[in-house]
Amino acid sequence: MSCCSIGKKNLYDLSERMNVEDKRIINCNAVDVNQLMPLKYQWAWEHYLNGCANHWMPNEVGMGADIELWKSNALSEDERLVILRNLGFFATGESLVGNNLVLAIFKHITNAECRQYILRQAFEEAIHTHTFHYVVESLGLDEREIFNMYNEVPSIAAKDNFEMKYTAAIMDENFSTDSEDGVREFMRNLIAFYVIMEGIFFYSGFAMILSFGRQNRMVGIGEQFQYILRDETIHLNFGIDLINTLRSENPGVWNAQFETEVYAMIDEAVELEIAYAEDCLPNGILGLNANLFRSYVQYIADRRLERISLEKKYHAKNPFGWMSEAIDLPKEKNFFETRVTEYQSGGSLDWG
Ligand code: MN
Ligand code: FE
Repeated sequence: MSCCSIGKKNLYDLSERMNVEDKRIINCNAVDVNQLMPLKYQWAWEHYLNGCANHWMPNEVGMGADIELWKSNALSEDERLVILRNLGFFATGESLVGNNLVLAIFKHITNAECRQYILRQAFEEAIHTHTFHYVVESLGLDEREIFNMYNEVPSIAAKDNFEMKYTAAIMDENFSTDSEDGVREFMRNLIAFYVIMEGIFFYSGFAMILSFGRQNRMVGIGEQFQYILRDETIHLNFGIDLINTLRSENPGVWNAQFETEVYAMIDEAVELEIAYAEDCLPNGILGLNANLFRSYVQYIADRRLERISLEKKYHAKNPFGWMSEAIDLPKEKNFFETRVTEYQSGGSLDWG
């Protein structure tokens, strides 16, 4: 019976009970995808439980201070620009991730515990999109403008077009994971979304907003971004486990040529992100400028390369040491009110 089938087998045939070792991430023919337990991939279940333990909603976060600041004269035009373009990227970026999960990835994953995690992740992406609606509504921004920036701002469109072509490739009616080429295409999609979109593009976006938060400005958005960052850390960790397991289960797919291709994908993404940072920060603002983002994006890209067993490429220094502290948020605390002093000293937490 195919794992994608939703049909049942004959009743009472005990010889057909699951052998857990037969579970596979893709192309599983021996185990019913409706049977979650027993687990083979403990990591997928742990990521699921961790995601659930982190549940939050954007409207739990007060926006009063942000509204007051936004309506005052205390933000410069350059500061407003970076905030608006940041919101413009995330407002639709979260939807691109959710759609890729549900429409492209889910169908081809033939393992119940990975599907369980993906269902959780998909809801988190909905919560993240909800966050951007809530922010836009709270600040009284033009929602048609923010939610259409991915068409109107070229550097945002370029990043999203880069991503969407990987979704389209998997949604093609002729796509399957039956061949090695098909598995490679599927891997490209996972790298484009988990490693690049959520692991690189999102992190420089987090740094932009959190740098306001550490100056005690736009603290409501800052707190929401901390919750999103905490979720994205798990998304990234799941994606890395998924990619590395898929690689070990499909020997021969990840060959030297594919490795070269992955480096080229990362390189293209790094340049797209730097161009976006230049667009967000044409003149630079307090604590942020496009050059710092060049280093940061390269530093993050190296971290991601290492997680998928590739050599570092850029050897850049992390200009935002304080970002590594930003991950450790106790749910009931406002990070910016309670941790400012330790926060500025930076830290060595492993946040992704
Ligand atoms: Mn998200
Ligand atoms: Fe995500």
